Amino acid sequence: MSKNITKRSEDYSKWYNELVVKADLAENSGVRGCMVIKPYGYAIWEKMQAELDKKFKETGHQNAYFPLFIPKSYFSKEASHVDGFAKECAVVTHYRLKTAEDGKTIEVDPDAKLEEELIVRPTSETIIWDTYRKWIESYRDLPILVNQWANVVRWEMRTRLFLRTAEFLWQEGHTAHATEKEAIAEAEQMLDVYADFAENFMAIPVVKGFKTENERFAGAIETYCIEALMQDGKALQAGTSHFLGQNFAKAFDVKFTSQEGKQEHVWATSWGVSTRLMGALIMTHSDDNGLVLPPNLAPIQVVIVPIHKTDEQLEAIREEVKKITDRFKKLNISFKFDDRTSFKPGWKFAEYELKGVPVRIAVGPKDLENGTFEVARRDTLTKEVVSKDGIVEYIQDLLETIQANLYKKAYDYRAEHITEVNSFEEFKEVLEGKGGFISAHWDGTGETEEKIKDLTKATIRCIPIDRKEEEGICVLTGKPSKGRVLFAKAY
Ligand code: AMP
Repeated sequence: MSKNITKRSEDYSKWYNELVVKADLAENSGVRGCMVIKPYGYAIWEKMQAELDKKFKETGHQNAYFPLFIPKSYFSKEASHVDGFAKECAVVTHYRLKTAEDGKTIEVDPDAKLEEELIVRPTSETIIWDTYRKWIESYRDLPILVNQWANVVRWEMRTRLFLRTAEFLWQEGHTAHATEKEAIAEAEQMLDVYADFAENFMAIPVVKGFKTENERFAGAIETYCIEALMQDGKALQAGTSHFLGQNFAKAFDVKFTSQEGKQEHVWATSWGVSTRLMGALIMTHSDDNGLVLPPNLAPIQVVIVPIHKTDEQLEAIREEVKKITDRFKKLNISFKFDDRTSFKPGWKFAEYELKGVPVRIAVGPKDLENGTFEVARRDTLTKEVVSKDGIVEYIQDLLETIQANLYKKAYDYRAEHITEVNSFEEFKEVLEGKGGFISAHWDGTGETEEKIKDLTKATIRCIPIDRKEEEGICVLTGKPSKGRVLFAKAY
């Protein structure tokens, strides 16, 4: 199979799909909308999981696990929640198959109909709040700070590898609190955790904001989000944190006795990020040669390719390489010494470029003579000859430099693609031209938001948390506005 991929400028969407498959991250499966995550892609996801899990634990959360199936009756208890998710639920109706009359085919056994249908979880608020009722009696039982790593199913009609799949992997935090203030602080804290993770670990700059009422999570009082900008000028919602008020506590009758001896409903939050982050990672950093991985997330940070003709040369290279890889191990720098003789160095170079390995070291007999290595950077595609003295420190610094450079590049791109506009003409011009986030005044109504979406396909990505108060007039209706919001076309 050719490893060449379509250029971004030719067809961004095709570039993305080909890259995901050719870099061995994931592929479509026989199940509509569901993907197979391949070992290389899964290794990156595991790195994300490990870092997030550490951050969740540092902020006092514990992991737990709840059932995959949710009885249908639970779902109907919170009205706006069921409204929001009903259209994309997979429902289990039977628990047995049988051989059909032809003696060959298998069919659902009509006698094995479930008394109550089960929903494959699209999110777990309902089953979790049904459980919390049993866990919570008094203020002493609060807060509950629980996270679950799981798969969920949302029957999406238009799917794309990682970005939007019918089944996806995620984590969902579900917390219970005695006061409104504490729950809001929790939702905001987790938004900060996500933003910090996106920026400092994944090198993806994000805007922190609130969702408008139209875009809010079904059942939430407030949805906070982080929004990222992809290289084609489209936005991607990269994570959400919800303040759920007392909606689920009321629906599931979860009360606690307060310190004053009063019965009160519990306050809730939930928050999640998913394998969509893999899509964000790819679309933020990668180029026409393939994947570009920030060192923090690269399963292999440094690949070492020997260039040799004879076995003796390979042996001499191996000895020299071992000296540095022994030190890489101590420094937790992950590496691969690719001494396979079944592939030529040129093939290996292309392969690791496609896979986004941040640093490549090549070493041949000439280097041994000169006491040097050839070091190539994936992010800038530049090469340098480096003396073997101090090579390990050089690589260590280089990995940090690459991480910082990727963030800066993405940050600069985003800075160039946030445009303030003051008329609807300008709005459409920027949207169809350079794209990106459009910072514009909006009258605050759902109708105007919908109208703009119908006219332009752009949605309000968020009301930035740190936006400044600024009197203005709505770009569409000319009605008064208190501040700018960010519009964009989005994935
Ligand atoms: P939500 O529960 O709707 O707030 O979504 C939680 C997280 O899952 C957000 O970060 C979404 O971006 C992500 N997400 C929602 N739907 C999908 C999907 N179909 N595929 C992948 N990720 C998703």
